[in-house]
Amino acid sequence: MFDEDAKLVFSRELLAWYRAHKRDLPWRRTRNPYHIWVSEVMLQQTRVETVKPYFERFVSLFPTVEALAEAPEETVLKAWEGLGYYSRARNLQAAAREVAERYGGEVPDAKERFAALKGVGPYTAGAVMSIAFNRREPAVDGNVMRVLSRYFCIEEDIAKGGTRAMMERLQYELIPEGEASDFNQAIMELGALVCTPKSPHCLTCPVMARCAGRLEGKEESLPIKTKAKPPRPEYRACAFVVDERGERVLLRRRPAEGLLADMWEPPHVEFGAAGWSPAQADADLGDALAGWLGEALGAAAVRPTGSAGTYEHTFSHIHWNVRVHRFTAAAAALAAEPPEPYRWVDRDGLARHPLPNVFVRMLKAEGFLA
Ligand code: SF4
Repeated sequence: MFDEDAKLVFSRELLAWYRAHKRDLPWRRTRNPYHIWVSEVMLQQTRVETVKPYFERFVSLFPTVEALAEAPEETVLKAWEGLGYYSRARNLQAAAREVAERYGGEVPDAKERFAALKGVGPYTAGAVMSIAFNRREPAVDGNVMRVLSRYFCIEEDIAKGGTRAMMERLQYELIPEGEASDFNQAIMELGALVCTPKSPHCLTCPVMARCAGRLEGKEESLPIKTKAKPPRPEYRACAFVVDERGERVLLRRRPAEGLLADMWEPPHVEFGAAGWSPAQADADLGDALAGWLGEALGAAAVRPTGSAGTYEHTFSHIHWNVRVHRFTAAAAALAAEPPEPYRWVDRDGLARHPLPNVFVRMLKAEGFLA
């Protein structure tokens, strides 16, 4: 289907370029499959520079599959805090437990076994099998689809499963014998450094001479991708409750299932669900939140002290607008332990509770986190 000579040139030039120009990254200094697996999970939808310190901290905290399997979930989530997509951390730990129990802590080097672990999709399976074990397996992500679409001038919609399957076959054919580890990393590296989403650097590209997309002037318009639905806006009112001495903050634990499962946060509620509207005046909203919180805590226990602004966060399918109000807790509220899932947490304690990013920003702005 594609020109055999163009395929050979692509594989040869790309590999030579990678060996001369590859970045020195912490996960490239190891063949430890567990460490490579951790890096691949972290790198999904997160930039390399952001991942570096997280990766190094994570593998020093949990250096082996067993160490991760045995760690308390809260410690794992805390180490992941700021990377987002917390279900990935939970799945990684669940998979590590499976590897510890079923495979004696050795990451399986057979794709079917590895791909059957919790949270391991086709990309992660292909990446770990090829990078760690040098197995001839494709690992097609957005970067790879962009590079292949452009080089071979593929005008199929990359959001379609059929296009991905075709790219997997193509990448498989392109992998030179015995070179899966370097070759798969080479395509990813080209996509990250040269064949970038906007304004690709074609003049420094090792495969420019045979790039069909560039020769047809389509390097900027490829790949073709139908737009995903924009995230649904969700308006939330949040109570930032501090004790009278300004030392402790009221947090609650999120449910064990769903978005941001098991993480900690200041209490908040969706406007529609509480019967209020985002257009509500701040003074009214403060009173309404105080009443809502009093019910949740079992006492009319908090006093509004003003608005603390709005914070936004985009998840894959929801966009949060969080309007925050400050409250001071009355002494009566402090005397007793709040009911589950609420908890008073001091400044040191905040460093041990895994918190969603949006609330890390808020707590920093309020001077509760450094
Ligand atoms: S020549 Fe340009 S469009 Fe083609 S692969 Fe290289 S960077 Fe991408």
